[in-house]
Amino acid sequence: RGDAAAAAQAQCALPPPMAEAAMAAQVPPDEEADECLREYRHLFSPDLLAGQVAFITGGGSGIGFRIAEIFMRHGCRTVIASRNLERVSEASKKLVAATGQQCLPLSLDVRQPQTIVAAVDEALKEFKRIDILINGAAGNFLCPASALSFNAFKTVIDIDTIGTFNTSKVLFEKYFRDHGGVIVNITATLSYRGQALQVHAGAAKAAIDAMTRHLAVEWGPNNIRVNSLAPGPIAGTEGFRRLGGKFAEKLSLFDMIPLQRAGNKTEIAHSSLYLASPLSSYVTGTTLVVDGGSWLTSANNFSALLGIASSSAK
Ligand code: NAP
Repeated sequence: RGDAAAAAQAQCALPPPMAEAAMAAQVPPDEEADECLREYRHLFSPDLLAGQVAFITGGGSGIGFRIAEIFMRHGCRTVIASRNLERVSEASKKLVAATGQQCLPLSLDVRQPQTIVAAVDEALKEFKRIDILINGAAGNFLCPASALSFNAFKTVIDIDTIGTFNTSKVLFEKYFRDHGGVIVNITATLSYRGQALQVHAGAAKAAIDAMTRHLAVEWGPNNIRVNSLAPGPIAGTEGFRRLGGKFAEKLSLFDMIPLQRAGNKTEIAHSSLYLASPLSSYVTGTTLVVDGGSWLTSANNFSALLGIASSSAK
């Protein structure tokens, strides 16, 4: 009997980790800082976005920067926009040098519709069209609800949720209503299991996922596709640093993720490329979770997260 149980258990045991990753599981290269990739091998056709223009809020850093780079490597011209003009201007120089495509850096605050209107007008003057909107601008930090000020909660909702609505509405009125377009909202999985210390960002991003569905329904007849992309922990980003990614890495917490690691910015950019391109021409109103399976298995441990919060604040 004991032998039979042991044999059954052996049969049920998980397979050992693979020595060499199969093609579909290979991790594309990334750079830790806001620098362009030193090497890049196209997986999709290099002219996938040829002739198109993407307007990317938060495009001067982190995930938004890599999305701009990967889009440009696929023939797209980009507008990268955020509050800090110096930051987007520096980023634009790097992107143009690495890809040979045009990139227009602009300053805007997604909380102020008139600044979005001015930026979109300037982008249209320069490129005559905008095909893709990536709503990537956001702010986040770890904080227990009990210590969160009214203003801190409101600020995150203002930037993430209201900023996404403001930018989408301006693009709709200025161009998408008459020409169609694609919107990709960068959200998060924080609300799926009520992530501790993240009520502000979790609530803000959940509202954006709802907005994705509402706008997909209302704007579908205008040939506008609207989807969300929800990343997990992504190395080499401000979000990773602020939310204790390095700390989690040191404690081997990423072993809990089914794919056993944090993601990288190139992986998020590739999934954005899919959602922004004709590869997903019949996809709208959905959220693509790009997290290695993280939200299904990672612990939501309040005291451990408090430890991470105080350690990453140092
Ligand atoms: P990041 O580099 O800090 O990106 C945020 C960007 O938003 C910055 O470029 C910032 O530029 C811009 N921004 C902030 N407030 C703004 C405002 N009021 N108006 C216009 N632009 C504004 O962080 P990231 O980690 O790469 O995050 C990018 C996106 O991915 C965010 O939506 C984030 O919530 C999401 N995400 C990230 C992770 C992760 O692990 N990193 C996980 C899940 C989701 P300025 O300061 O110049 O304005």
